[in-house]
Amino acid sequence: MNPILELNDVSYSYHTLDGETKALSDISFSLARGEFTAVVGPSGCGKSTLLSLIAGLMKPESGSMTLNGDPLTENSSKIGYMLQHDHLFEWRTVYRNVLLGAEINKALTPEIKERANKLLEQYGLKRFARSKPSELSGGMRQRAALIRTLLLEPELLLLDEPFSALDYQTRLTVSDDIGQIIRRSGKTALLVTHDLSEAVSLSDRVIILSKRPASIVRIVPIAFALEKDTPLNRRNAPEFKNYFNEIWKELNHDE
Ligand code: ADP
Repeated sequence: MNPILELNDVSYSYHTLDGETKALSDISFSLARGEFTAVVGPSGCGKSTLLSLIAGLMKPESGSMTLNGDPLTENSSKIGYMLQHDHLFEWRTVYRNVLLGAEINKALTPEIKERANKLLEQYGLKRFARSKPSELSGGMRQRAALIRTLLLEPELLLLDEPFSALDYQTRLTVSDDIGQIIRRSGKTALLVTHDLSEAVSLSDRVIILSKRPASIVRIVPIAFALEKDTPLNRRNAPEFKNYFNEIWKELNHDE
């Protein structure tokens, strides 16, 4: 099947008064539909830059990017973006936060509202639809942020360290929970994380980036022989530490 997203030799540099910072160097990879891919790399190597380019927030300096075979030139509604902070607005109820993207896109139809209610129910937030975000736990807030993103029916989900603002215990349960919701939704996802356990427990492939300017060091396919392939079961499976160590070694190669 044709890939949903394809990057060919994508490079990017920031230009500031202090000079040029090359952030990405000849990045090429593709994502198959429904695939969950994680991107790991040293801090400051260019991971967020990569997502910003795919989100259409910036243009590559060279190379090409296609979405469903068409050049990806500007912000596409087929792409959903979820960030480290949930960006829920306290003056809006959970329901109205979930509808925000649709409202901005001027797509606040009765169908969308019905879908919002369905998703809230499906993901256990119906009771909190009229609550303010501050009444929700960190995990529930991330669910609400994900529902807001899913409501626009993106084909590709970009996740930039979406769990890193949560404390360790919460992060484990929330990342497993959100990972499973994304799996069930059948969406293609690209997750940037500094947490190798998260990458191994959630994804089908891990793209390992070098230090800045980021280039692809290796792409590691992840497959577990589990009857019930959930993030939690992966964490307890014997293969888990092998994958973890393999990626860890690759990342710490030149140190
Ligand atoms: P990561 O997400 O891997 O931590 P980033 O993509 O945020 O890394 O940044 C990659 C490099 O580009 C860093 O060295 C950072 O200092 C630089 N950079 C990021 N944003 C800007 C900017 N707006 N202007 C100049 N340099 C930037």
